[in-house]
Amino acid sequence: MDKIHYLDNAATTKLYPELMETFQRYYLDVFANPSSLHKAGLMAEKAVLNSRKLVAGLIGASEEQIIFTSGASEANNLVIANGAFKRAEPVMITSKIEHSSVKKALNFYAHEHIYYLNNDQNGVIFTDFDNMEIESANLITVIYVNNEIGTIQNVKELIKKAKAKGFRGMFHVDATQAIGKIPVDVKDLDCDFLTASAHKFKGPKGVGFLYCKNPKLVNAMVFGGGQEFGKRAGTENVAGICVMAKALSKACKDMAANTKKAFEFKQKIVDYVKASEHFALTIDEDVKQSPFILSVRSDLAPSEVLLHAYADEGIYLSSGSACNSSNPQTSSVLGAIGKAPSPETAVLRISFAADTGINDINAFIKASEKMVSRFNK
Ligand code: PMP
Repeated sequence: MDKIHYLDNAATTKLYPELMETFQRYYLDVFANPSSLHKAGLMAEKAVLNSRKLVAGLIGASEEQIIFTSGASEANNLVIANGAFKRAEPVMITSKIEHSSVKKALNFYAHEHIYYLNNDQNGVIFTDFDNMEIESANLITVIYVNNEIGTIQNVKELIKKAKAKGFRGMFHVDATQAIGKIPVDVKDLDCDFLTASAHKFKGPKGVGFLYCKNPKLVNAMVFGGGQEFGKRAGTENVAGICVMAKALSKACKDMAANTKKAFEFKQKIVDYVKASEHFALTIDEDVKQSPFILSVRSDLAPSEVLLHAYADEGIYLSSGSACNSSNPQTSSVLGAIGKAPSPETAVLRISFAADTGINDINAFIKASEKMVSRFNK
């Protein structure tokens, strides 16, 4: 095996290599604590402030609306905890295809009163809000781009419909797979909260952010110092924050070119899948979906076996989210769209990033041919 073909970018991406310099600067040079009053501390504080301005500007927010966190999981938990702080018995509305950081936090905070929006077999969430207590709901939380199947929700429409039906709570958008890949403008969406993780857009792991329309309404979940306007204590991850801001800036600047390339790559695999007897698309081609995520079903072998066989060929994929990567039968997303694979069949998630090349796509197709000859007995 001569080369690795990394096609698991929905799980995480490789850092933009040119940003290593920024890391170095904020660990070795401007390494002081931003809360320290000396000049070195002020420099670190300024770096965080500039990054906050940059991130805010890229999503149509203002700087006081951005709270830096350790990533989307923490930001999602903070949002849901806040939904629950408002009432002894919080009422929350969500979909059946959320990331586990949303799903499990909801179960923890609002297990008695969670209403689920229905969806079709492509993971498109229905906007009817029928049979639920929408007028008394504290929070609606919906994933923007699904991390397992790539379906893009019409979030703007969902927010409009919810309000038209009398919703007066907060609307949260988990934009972890959207930010840096499709245009995101919080004013245009008119959401109350939006969350993201830097490592999904070629930034560092362990850092992300929460946008809040009205930060005054947010209560802290992590208590301690007064960092992040008192909404999230803990010494700032200065290097991570600065690198994240630069990564997002680059991702947004290159978005059109990256998207065009991803569309071509995805189409090439889609064409291969459609011509094959042993592969099938998980969601229909005409559904609004991310060009960076493609989910494919196969009757050749169980997911775990097929994923290892691809890995032996240097092709790194997964079947869905990291939580059930080798066991997609347990994926609630695939279950919710009625496409959980049987124990004998597989689901493969092929996901791209700015550094994916046509050679990676060709290698995937070549390896798929090998899989057919190896497993189609
Ligand atoms: N939401 C979605 C849609 C995701 O894809 C992920 C990461 N798989 C998360 C939340 C959580 O992100 P992190 O692991 O960086 O906290």
